[in-house]
Amino acid sequence: MSARPPVVLAYGVGVDSTALLVELVDRGQPPDLILTADTGVEKPATYAYLDVIGPWIAAHGIRHEVVRYQPKRFKHWPPYYSLLEMCLTNATLPSKSMGGSSCSLKYKKAPQDAFLSTWQPAIDAWARGQRVVRLIGYDAGPRDTMRANHALSINDPLYDCQYPLREWGWDRDACIRRIEAEGLPVPPKSACWLCIANQPGEIRELPTWCLRLIVLVEARAAPRLHTVEGLWRRSTRARPGRMTDFIRHESLLPADEIDRIERNAPLDLIRFQDVAAGVPVDERPTMREWLERFNAGLQPIALAA
Ligand code: SF4
Repeated sequence: MSARPPVVLAYGVGVDSTALLVELVDRGQPPDLILTADTGVEKPATYAYLDVIGPWIAAHGIRHEVVRYQPKRFKHWPPYYSLLEMCLTNATLPSKSMGGSSCSLKYKKAPQDAFLSTWQPAIDAWARGQRVVRLIGYDAGPRDTMRANHALSINDPLYDCQYPLREWGWDRDACIRRIEAEGLPVPPKSACWLCIANQPGEIRELPTWCLRLIVLVEARAAPRLHTVEGLWRRSTRARPGRMTDFIRHESLLPADEIDRIERNAPLDLIRFQDVAAGVPVDERPTMREWLERFNAGLQPIALAA
């Protein structure tokens, strides 16, 4: 009898994929591997949930790996690693805000694919002419139905993508009930904290340091934005196109602090990049160092000109 193909759960630490994981284990069908792609800008509550679900996963004896995109060539830029650092380096927004999807492909799908390309059970399955089964937590609601239909239209020779929640007819409410029945807390909606997918109420709940960085990202990208207004793309009746305008309108940050970030921080960052460009890459200060100073409320420039 030939070996069965390995099963991998793409675990986004959100409601749907958590319910899927819990139910698979309960049915005696745990995945062989759980993969979580960390964009570096997941919500603080999502990182906190990893501390809850991690021990649960370990107690059930399933391997869980957190993977990240690893850029290797930085040209003359300070080395950058997260989606936030990429946006600040290139003076842009996540592609989702610009109408694309490459941020998700690059920071979520690509690191999982890279890990699986070196995972022996996957290599063995491909050698046998099998496809690796990839379980995805799209639910049976209308939004995920559109996403699943699009994904199904793509024929991937390496992966057989399956959507058990949809086969079971589970919508988001059913997923919440399943997690609660397991005695686990319900995780927050999983999305980067600067993602266009966040609703106004979710921006309200962010800590101050995230709000300051949202203002910074929009200010840094502003000179290059011609077709969109900001992270929320364009204004609607429900919200402005710029999250900064929402943060200002709701007094989530003091107005003078917003003004100061918009006026000073992008210029400081450009100067930091200019100086760093003259430093050999091995010794070059990283974007993370600049951000640590920004988050500490310090004048960011640390390099001698
Ligand atoms: S959550 Fe949003 S911003 Fe983050 S990778 Fe996905 S689409 Fe892009």
